[in-house]
Amino acid sequence: MIIIVKRGATREQITEMVGKITSMGLTAHSVEGQQQYTISVLGKTEKVDMNEFSSIAYVESVFRVSKPFKLASRAANPEGTRIKLKNLEIGADRMIVMAGPCSVESEDQVMRIARAVKAAGATVLRGGAFKPRSSPYAFQGMGLRGLQLLKQASQETGLPVISEAMDLEGAEMMMDYVDIFQIGARNMQNFSLLKELGKMDKPIMLKRGMSATIEEWLMSAEYILAGGNRNVLLCERGIRSFDSQYSRNTLDLNAIPILKSLTHLPIVVDPSHGTGHRHLVAPMALAGMAAGGDALIIEVHDRPEEALSDGPQALLPSDFSELMGKLVKMGRALDKNVITELERERTAA
Ligand code: PEP
Ligand code: MN
Repeated sequence: MIIIVKRGATREQITEMVGKITSMGLTAHSVEGQQQYTISVLGKTEKVDMNEFSSIAYVESVFRVSKPFKLASRAANPEGTRIKLKNLEIGADRMIVMAGPCSVESEDQVMRIARAVKAAGATVLRGGAFKPRSSPYAFQGMGLRGLQLLKQASQETGLPVISEAMDLEGAEMMMDYVDIFQIGARNMQNFSLLKELGKMDKPIMLKRGMSATIEEWLMSAEYILAGGNRNVLLCERGIRSFDSQYSRNTLDLNAIPILKSLTHLPIVVDPSHGTGHRHLVAPMALAGMAAGGDALIIEVHDRPEEALSDGPQALLPSDFSELMGKLVKMGRALDKNVITELERERTAA
């Protein structure tokens, strides 16, 4: 059940309302927007008489959410969630780009690529230290050393870092090194991990499982939100389809406007895993932005032939820089401000 409270309501009135909700054995999650307060009421709300709330003077409206995802539903935060990250915000009328190698491979490699993506305008550095690989014999990531190198790259460039946590142990280890936790496609329904992430306050980027429906994906986000962590981003990274001859996955662009209507959570588009081939990445990145993505995450490597994972889909820094130029131009046409690293530094100064 959602209760919309008029903006003029006082703090005391909101606290009183939350007290009334909890005294009924229900839980309240409130979001303060520019126009209104939105209180999501969870628990056995079927038996609640909505008039009990709608008759209160400062209540604008009360309605039930028919979808199984409650906190992730658009109604729970109609103005849209903005994720705050150091001096950066993700969501709403702006767009940002995360970029970097698939895996952290060495100090030299991550520093070179971090400098290159920053120079091209990326605002977040990506890099995996723990890698989920189909083969146990493939490179598994550098682990703790990889995290230390990411932090070093972050300190030198000023870029916040996103990296994948495969389990709780890894997530705990990552706490001091990483700004956003990536939960990979293979872990989208690792419910015990999602519950633990709900107790943390780091932003979580939840990738779509390779055969997950949109509703399953939103229910996984709901696990994190229900635990109390509001900072969730959804990442479309392509789904498995019947034709993998020319592309690794099928980037589901339909999902982007669908999610925009269903949820308030910001949407990240990953055209690298979505296609698996370098020559497809830039066109699908532009398409992802045109479809309404709030951010892109792109794999970049300056020596892709030497990459220990995902070399064939990595953009060269020069290609990435050219793509950034096109995204900025497209942003003007779409009334979406593409926040490049230069701009971020300028506004922070
Ligand atoms: C990755 O980002 O390198 C990765 C392994 O992604 P996914 O979970 O989407 O396969
Ligand atoms: Mn990868």
